[in-house]
Amino acid sequence: PPAGLAISRFSTATEASPIPTSSPRRVKNLIGGEFVESQSEASIDVINPATQEVVSRVPLTTSDEFKAAVSAAKKAFPQWRNTPVTSRQRIMLKFQELIRRDMDKLAMNITAEQGKTLKDAQGDVFRGLEVVEHACGMASLQMGEYVANVSHGIDTYSIREPLGVCAGICPFNFPAMIPLWMFPIGVTCGNTYILKPSEKDPGAAMMLAELAMEAGLPDGVLNIVHGTYETVNSICDDDNIKAISFVGSNTAGMHIYARAAAKGKRVQSNMGAKNHAIIMPDASADATLNALVAAGFGAAGQRCMALSTAVFVGGSKSWEEEIIKRATALKVNAGVEPGTDLGPVISRQAKERICSLIQGGIDSGARVVLDGRKSCVHVSGYENGNFIGPTILADVTNDMECYKEEIFGPVLLFMQADSLDKAINIVNSNKYGNGASIFTTSGVAARKFQNEIEAGQVGINVPIPVPLPFFSFTGSKASFAGDLNFYGKAGVQFYTQIKTVTQQWKDLAGQSASLAMPTSQ
Ligand code: NAD
Repeated sequence: PPAGLAISRFSTATEASPIPTSSPRRVKNLIGGEFVESQSEASIDVINPATQEVVSRVPLTTSDEFKAAVSAAKKAFPQWRNTPVTSRQRIMLKFQELIRRDMDKLAMNITAEQGKTLKDAQGDVFRGLEVVEHACGMASLQMGEYVANVSHGIDTYSIREPLGVCAGICPFNFPAMIPLWMFPIGVTCGNTYILKPSEKDPGAAMMLAELAMEAGLPDGVLNIVHGTYETVNSICDDDNIKAISFVGSNTAGMHIYARAAAKGKRVQSNMGAKNHAIIMPDASADATLNALVAAGFGAAGQRCMALSTAVFVGGSKSWEEEIIKRATALKVNAGVEPGTDLGPVISRQAKERICSLIQGGIDSGARVVLDGRKSCVHVSGYENGNFIGPTILADVTNDMECYKEEIFGPVLLFMQADSLDKAINIVNSNKYGNGASIFTTSGVAARKFQNEIEAGQVGINVPIPVPLPFFSFTGSKASFAGDLNFYGKAGVQFYTQIKTVTQQWKDLAGQSASLAMPTSQ
């Protein structure tokens, strides 16, 4: 770290910081194995969305601190890349055990900073934990290929090698899962890492970093910096950083994709979504209704795989009454309260934006069949929370702003189509391609849907088809930029480059030189 940085080897990421004394703790940087206080005077408040209390303050990491983090990662790389993959895997084995041990603590932090319910927060951690478990098998995942005797006495083999320093830039909605999509795969492949958590809820990423260090990750292998677009631009521009994983909005994602690509970096960029469900008249009613309610309103609609648009083949009328009943029964409250189904949205600005998209929909002709702006203004004990109740707009058409924009709130849109073909056409005309589901008891309809739908993650009677880590997260169209997806085989390919070796072991004595293009003999 640069001279003048207050380094506290024994103070950790989450304990109270010595400065400033009377206000909430400042989140630290992690540089070269030390949790260090940032010298930056600028910081952003991390606000509990249920109470508006300031949970902590995130510094805007200074340029010197950023450079120190990159240089720590660069310094740690030669030794880490040569550490046997079995040793790297063993650290992940310990890491997954520690995540399980601290699951409740992590979930509490996520609920305090992000707002989701404790149970949902546990799911957030668990879906990330699965990626760590997957990384425990890196020796097999990273295996190369070998062809003996490609020509007489010549063998060719390929090796997957780490890239160097890699970076991850995270969104607010999964404070544990998304950092865990990134650095465990990156570092177990032998890279060193710079992580930038979301400035809205960095706590879980800091706790995970502590656990990774406790698991034995050597100093400098994982570093953490904070901030917003300036830190992001530094990541894009720094020639020492070879690859960037990004998850978040299209505005940020496409900016990062272009800026980092101009510097020759590889980027995987998972972005926004508008996930549709097509509901066929023959769909099994109970299961479909539960799926729509859970996937539409779970996590207050702040999941990139939330089902935000239901297209009813044959009209929505016959479904409306029952959906309204189930959505109305959901309990809106602070995430820490037992029995809560959905907590607040992340910020006051997010709430205002969501409410204005609802109003815009109504003004342009949508029929509000359930209005969560009214029912949830008052949540007893949490009067300052950013609550919006489940909201349903029916008769939505594709020219409405509420349809064109990703709402990212507890709002479900109902559309109609006369036939499966027309429903598929609606989905395929949407610019996003993260996920799409069909609810039907007809194998013929399901197969047609799977074949014709233009979305990267397809659910058949499954509302949020997020693949487990041995597959990849395969959003497409405007929901993804890059060509190697997160985790699974593609994730390992993203974090490694191929070296192809051709070796010759034969007695060449007495042969003359040939200048012709060598061909396989
Ligand atoms: P966001 O884009 O505002 O922020 C994501 C990250 O980018 C943050 O670390 C932030 O500091 C940085 N950032 C924000 N604006 C920037 C800018 N103009 N230039 C450079 N960096 C910038 O996203 P968010 O609000 O935190 O997350 C919600 C979005 O993430 C939604 O669109 C959601 O669909 C998407 N998301 C997608 C997936 C997926 O896998 N496809 C998963 C989760 C979330």
